[in-house]
Amino acid sequence: MKVPFNDLALLHHSIGEEINEAIKTVIDGSGFVLSKAVSSFEQAFAQKLGVGHCIGVGNGTDALSISLKMLGIGAGDEVIVPANSFIATSEAVSIAGATPVFADCDSYYGLCPNALKTKITSRTKAVIVVHLYGQAADIESISAICNDAGLIMLEDCAQSHFSSYKHSYTGCFGEAACYSFYPGKNLGALGDGGCIVTNNHNLAEKIRMYCNHGSMQHQKHVFEGSNSRLDGIQAAILEVKLKYIDNWNRQRLELAEAYTELLKINKHIVCPEIRPGAGHIFHLYVVRTQKRNELLQWLFKHNVQCGLHYEKALPFLPCYQQKNHSPAEFPVASEYQHLLLSLPIYPGMTAAQLKYTTNCIGEFYSQQ
Ligand SMILES: *Cc1c(COP(=O)(O)O)cnc(C)c1O
Repeated sequence: MKVPFNDLALLHHSIGEEINEAIKTVIDGSGFVLSKAVSSFEQAFAQKLGVGHCIGVGNGTDALSISLKMLGIGAGDEVIVPANSFIATSEAVSIAGATPVFADCDSYYGLCPNALKTKITSRTKAVIVVHLYGQAADIESISAICNDAGLIMLEDCAQSHFSSYKHSYTGCFGEAACYSFYPGKNLGALGDGGCIVTNNHNLAEKIRMYCNHGSMQHQKHVFEGSNSRLDGIQAAILEVKLKYIDNWNRQRLELAEAYTELLKINKHIVCPEIRPGAGHIFHLYVVRTQKRNELLQWLFKHNVQCGLHYEKALPFLPCYQQKNHSPAEFPVASEYQHLLLSLPIYPGMTAAQLKYTTNCIGEFYSQQ
């Protein structure tokens, strides 16, 4: 049996006709950039999320760096980010001209509020909260800290499309929230894409102008911006996929529950825990195990594809070598980086594939 890490072809074949129809409509109307297809998706996404504004952008990394820039964050400013995330979270801070400052994570893999507090200086302007793997970070404690310290809270929702905390969707807590529609995300385009959502009308206007060369009206460039826009074709595809996201997220949750049921008896494996109040959407199902690399190889040999998210915590990546961080500064993230293993999880994964995966894991440990 083969168990791929993800199966996008399977997903897209299941709605192939609708996708083809959506693409054809855009081609027939030539609405490739800043078109009705884009505003229609932006409205549908904002409405489903319950926020005032959604601005489509080129990708999730742009969404983050542009939000920071339009919030007035740049040279001389510090932005606190979690030590365990994808590089884009910290990279966006540097792209905006500011300095990323890392803080440790908690056992749910989100930014740790206590660690965050110790990183606040007179230069800190903002905090980027990442709802990693599809689960809300400790958003209540983090917002309280940000409020007290007068810091802007920005949400990185690239892995948390319609995950929730106490009946509110992630993406509704910060000054703005940034989404990626990279194909492998829970809501993915057939190429790059992203968006920014906010309830701040002025911020939304500024972002919209920045992404379109600093203009709202043709050739009236109020300031120098850039070019970062969601394609019409991608927007039309995303609007089709938006109808299915709840169903797909539910399937992921059911698969995750089945994994935990089968793996919790294995004393070598620490299954992901659900934060009280959180509605997890399992972008990734990440376990911890001491024999991580050996298990990864074993599963690979048995045609089960796994992933590492992330193989190195951000502070220890070569690009941040000059910061000279030591593992003692991030005890949790530096321990976890050697233990984390992402198991296959995707809509359409069968019960048999899941059982096969957990059986292979069981066999591996029975031979230790
Ligand atoms: C994917 C991802 C991004 C970046 O999104 P792109 O669209 O690939 O630029 C940012 N943050 C996190 C946590 C991500 O997983």
